[in-house]
Amino acid sequence: MADDATPSVERERPDPKQVDRKARLLVPPHRPPKQDPAERIANWEEVSFLFDPAEAKIEANRCIQCPAAPCMKACPVHNDIPGSFWLLERGDFDGAANVFRQTSELPEMCGRLCPQERLCEGHCVVGKHALPVAIGKLETFVTEWQRAHGGIPAAEPVASTGRRVAVIGTGPAGIAVAERLARRGHAVVMYEAWPEPGGVLRYGIPDFKQNKAAVDRKFKDLHALGVEVVTGMHVGTQISWATVRAGVDAVFLGIGASEGSRLGIPGEDGPGVITATDFLVRANLAPEHLPESLRVPLGSPRRVVVVGGGDTSMDCVRSARRLGAADVTLIYRRTEAEMQGRVEERMHSREEGVLFEFLAAPVEVLRNVEGGVRGLRCQRMELGEPDDTGRRRPQAVPGSEFDIEADMLVTAIGYNVEPEWGEILPELVRDRWGRFVADPETLATNLPAVFAGGDDVNGADLVVTALADGHRAAEAIDRYLRNAGPTRPPVGAPEAPGRKLIGDSSLLAK
Ligand SMILES: Cc1cc2nc3c(=O)[nH]c(=O)nc-3n(C[C@H](O)[C@H](O)[C@H](O)COP(=O)(O)OP(=O)(O)OC[C@H]3O[C@@H](n4cnc5c(N)ncnc54)[C@H](O)[C@@H]3O)c2cc1C
Repeated sequence: MADDATPSVERERPDPKQVDRKARLLVPPHRPPKQDPAERIANWEEVSFLFDPAEAKIEANRCIQCPAAPCMKACPVHNDIPGSFWLLERGDFDGAANVFRQTSELPEMCGRLCPQERLCEGHCVVGKHALPVAIGKLETFVTEWQRAHGGIPAAEPVASTGRRVAVIGTGPAGIAVAERLARRGHAVVMYEAWPEPGGVLRYGIPDFKQNKAAVDRKFKDLHALGVEVVTGMHVGTQISWATVRAGVDAVFLGIGASEGSRLGIPGEDGPGVITATDFLVRANLAPEHLPESLRVPLGSPRRVVVVGGGDTSMDCVRSARRLGAADVTLIYRRTEAEMQGRVEERMHSREEGVLFEFLAAPVEVLRNVEGGVRGLRCQRMELGEPDDTGRRRPQAVPGSEFDIEADMLVTAIGYNVEPEWGEILPELVRDRWGRFVADPETLATNLPAVFAGGDDVNGADLVVTALADGHRAAEAIDRYLRNAGPTRPPVGAPEAPGRKLIGDSSLLAK
């Protein structure tokens, strides 16, 4: 659905003057129920249930339909939240879902995964008086309801443009580009290194936050649109860049940022220390969905320490509890106020019995005589002056070392773009962190007809920001394809060398 070319949903918009805001502000908030913490740590099912339809209508009626709609502005893809809820409160669930689908390829997932407290719900005017409208949960409810009752409307057939685009990476950025371009008549082939498509939506985010059936359904939609998806195919090793490039008129790089950072402390190398991605995929996916190298069982660690402060670290601690670990501790070198991840996930972690050690940093992995992990030596930290991100810099407190017993240490301390791209595509301009440099408006890189977006440009970020990049890139690729002459380079022809640019997208040729 999500395409600017999609005819807008017929909808009646309220005259805000006729909406009784005072009465709406008195409606008590409704939230869908959740699994009890004691029960849910024994399964991998989603924590939140879907809204009951009658309660969803009441909750949507709490939206005061403010004309400025700050929720919509705060949403990176600018979902028309009041427009959807106006339909939802009157029982037009299909119409309400279609409003979300006009601006988002993944509304079922964004409703579950976005940090709403700093995006839409954080800007909800109702939130100044009471709990904000449950925007995320309503978005998931109404779009899942539509899927369960007749499905999403089939796409109108479009004439082929005769153009072909390769999308490398099947995460949210690649999905958005593929869907938008396919809807405009371009042939799209997606390449994915993992055995199945979905990027972090499948190989990262655990089922208790987002079930994998939702990812499968998305790829069925793309298949129905004619998008070809080639999985188990790493561009650069299993198929060369030159081969991919030669077969298409344009390429979108949506390869994410999957290279986990290292702690750089003694004892880190060896059994029992594992990166977040390896831990999460082995905890959450059956071996048949994994490449050979990752089909090794994780075992049953009793005491797990996770280092990190974002969504990934929360997914690790909560997965560790579901694997049966009795003691699970999160180590973070700043305070909770500086943590990047979602508030709800921290609340869920606490409910599930995870311990938090703030203002603590690891200094050494302690090993037993057999070489296994026996604990983690940490150091207390205090916050100093703000660093260049504006957050106060943690500083070690001398003589404050303390030990935590552990059988397994999981590192979730930040992700970078895989450095191998420096060899796969040396002409592509990257910044000093290895991220691809792209024009912020068009997502064009320095290479002709090569675009990039999502985490490989922004660094580890969000599903919805990857979608927003995909939208801008698809727009620019479509424009490029419609205006360009023949663009497929002859097989084996070298890429035109890029201009020497360093790190700053403003330097890219427009
Ligand atoms: C554990 C975890 C939990 C998260 N939780 C949340 C959350 O709750 N909410 C939220 O908004 N965001 C969350 N995020 C962040 C979010 O998932 C990412 O920002 C988003 O997935 C980025 O999308 P993307 O399309 O840029 O990349 P990705 O989703 O990373 O997809 C990139 C794909 O490209 C493939 N690829 C890479 N190199 C190649 C190659 N050479 N050839 C072929 N394929 C290749 C990769 O295998 C991968 O499948 C989480 C991230 C992680 C790791």
